[in-house]
Amino acid sequence: MSVCKERAWETLTKLSFERVTGTEAEKKAAEFLKSECEKAGVEAHLEEYEIDNPIIHEVSFKTTKPVEESYHVIGIGGSGTTPDEGIRAPLVYIENGNDVNLADIKGKICLITGPTMPKKIEAMAKKGAVGFIAVHGTFYDEDSLKQELRPRNSRADKKYNLPGVVMQISDAEKLVRSHPEEVEIVLKQDGEAKGKAQNVVATIEGTDLKDEIVAFSAHYDSVPYSPGAWDNGTGSITILELMHYFAENKPRRTVKFIWCGSEEIGLVGSREYCKAHKDEMDQYIFNINFDMTGVTLGYEYFCCSASEEVRHALEYMAKVENYAVETKMDLYASDSTSFAIAGVPSCSFARLAPRGGAVIHDHRDTMEHLDPDSFMITLNFVVKFSSQIINAPVNVIPRSFAPEIEKKIEERKKMMAKMEGKKEEKETKAA
Ligand SMILES: [Zn+2]
Repeated sequence: MSVCKERAWETLTKLSFERVTGTEAEKKAAEFLKSECEKAGVEAHLEEYEIDNPIIHEVSFKTTKPVEESYHVIGIGGSGTTPDEGIRAPLVYIENGNDVNLADIKGKICLITGPTMPKKIEAMAKKGAVGFIAVHGTFYDEDSLKQELRPRNSRADKKYNLPGVVMQISDAEKLVRSHPEEVEIVLKQDGEAKGKAQNVVATIEGTDLKDEIVAFSAHYDSVPYSPGAWDNGTGSITILELMHYFAENKPRRTVKFIWCGSEEIGLVGSREYCKAHKDEMDQYIFNINFDMTGVTLGYEYFCCSASEEVRHALEYMAKVENYAVETKMDLYASDSTSFAIAGVPSCSFARLAPRGGAVIHDHRDTMEHLDPDSFMITLNFVVKFSSQIINAPVNVIPRSFAPEIEKKIEERKKMMAKMEGKKEEKETKAA
């Protein structure tokens, strides 16, 4: 018995609780995973790192003229603060916030229903806006869901201090239709506050080829309100089962199992891991990441952030093993991307849901739409796929990226360098 469906499912049940990064609950999940490793006879440890963890002290939003009416909002971490009495200003609805929308926003509070990338927030600030409202959810959410506004942090340059709040989209519609003359935002926060989070790391040393490392990864944190059963309790137990497998079937190469924290706030745990282990990264020949498997109605998906050869090899083997899978060359919105940026060929496996199927990132991400047999589809294939790589007499993974992946990696690096630059600028100013 090397992988075990029943054991996996029992572990998933225990792991399915809200595990937001930087909280005690995430730490508890980390300790739980560590103890599961030790139960399997594999030493594991936690690797701690620092995260941005803004603390909201007070937030409110209301219309003040012609009538006073309060709306349910949450503050956007790191966006900015208002004076104690708040900011009162006219409201302007700026849709997606394109240049025409932004032409007349000076001294106003902007409601934006498009994406709020740092650039957009900075553009609003430069045009003289004094606050903004972003939206969340859908018109069709049940009432309990409408209360679940997902906290988010601003990645805009903090020199702009543009206080922002998030509102449910139905409220935003009501607000626009009420044509208020004036609205008020109160937002008090410590936008610079830091927190602690951790990765869980276990290692099974290889036999004759132990200097080469294959790293399995899966994030174990969840978003607020979500028990994170599918996203990503399933990935977490997938690599736990792979650990059981390789504990019993000694690998020729060294195998690492990395449960990443803080994925949901921007792949922070995996990025910190690659930073902390920078000097060893050329030993890592391949990263195999899992983000969401086990959904009953769904399809297998393989995102390849490596060379075309790896994708072809996967497709060949999938056919041989009767494994139906869709493949794509891309950077996946998960921890494999951190490894690719660190120069390690990587990939992500997922079992994704059809339209109208299971959802993530709110209280509905429970075990309801998952089942152990579907979970085993991915796991059984990956045991075979990864064993070949881990035990091959020579390294079968070319240390190169397809040109389109290379390009995307360079873009990410530039973006990250820009953000790091801003941080350093501020730090040197402060010093
Ligand atoms: Zn995820």
